[in-house]
Amino acid sequence: MKYLFGPVNSRRFGLSLGIDLSPDKKSCNFDCLYCELDKAKPVSMIQNEPDPEDIISEVKYFLQKNPYPEVITITANGEPTLYSKLDILIEKLQKIKGNSKLLILSNGSTIHKKEIQETLKNLDIVKISFDAADQKTLQKVNKTLKDINIKNIIQGLKEFRKIFKGFLIIEILVVKNVNDSPENIKKIAEVLKDIQPDRVDLGTIDRPPAYRVFPVSDEELLKLGEYLKDFNLNIITRGKDNILSEFELSEEEILNTFRRRPYTYSDIEKVFNQETVNKIKDMIANGKLIEKKVGNTSFILPG
Ligand code: SF4
Repeated sequence: MKYLFGPVNSRRFGLSLGIDLSPDKKSCNFDCLYCELDKAKPVSMIQNEPDPEDIISEVKYFLQKNPYPEVITITANGEPTLYSKLDILIEKLQKIKGNSKLLILSNGSTIHKKEIQETLKNLDIVKISFDAADQKTLQKVNKTLKDINIKNIIQGLKEFRKIFKGFLIIEILVVKNVNDSPENIKKIAEVLKDIQPDRVDLGTIDRPPAYRVFPVSDEELLKLGEYLKDFNLNIITRGKDNILSEFELSEEEILNTFRRRPYTYSDIEKVFNQETVNKIKDMIANGKLIEKKVGNTSFILPG
């Protein structure tokens, strides 16, 4: 499986089968301080674009041997809306997804483009990151390509909300001493009044970040949440996972999945069946997987 990873036990979306549109190389027009991928110079295109048919074959194969996941998530080692065949892929996925919902995780940088709005409106859930409402803070936290402008993003979000009938989630990720000021969150709240997302996710760093930056405390997060209380607010704290599942992965699939998203021990116990958990333990013992500590939490990564 080149393009699929997971299922991932997502705290916000449930069991999610991931599609990575850029498995070879990080391809993002942002270089966020908190990125779970390694830091990389922002780019405007996905390198070595996949053929949608290859992705569809993998999804069909997965769905034949496993239960349908709650969501099929279109993502990338970077920004998925940079994929030039996204419209074709979404059209094909709609035909085979069964009861699963189709979700995209975007950084919002292209939402002002009409063709992107038309493509994304065919999804069930669209999650867009929005960490700053002014250009200076955007640059600080997301380190974007030069031509990316916050005014375009805001305008694009407003236009998209008008045509999108699905579930729109805005995610704000707060980094200590970077975008955690009440002023920043108040500005974001002001913009969101015009957008009226279905949900606002407010969180902080909880996976190993690309740069040496730090999370805010739960208490600070709750205080910042006060400025967003007019919205359907979901403050992300750990310990909300309670999904039991029967997913079984091969060693190669485990490495593929953990490369994209490090798991905690508790994630592992919750998502996978006992045979896979045992396989993971063996891989830790023989060094194929390693443990990395972030604060009090240990994550398992490929060795
Ligand atoms: S937008 Fe996503 S993939 Fe791109 S740098 Fe930021 S966190 Fe990483």
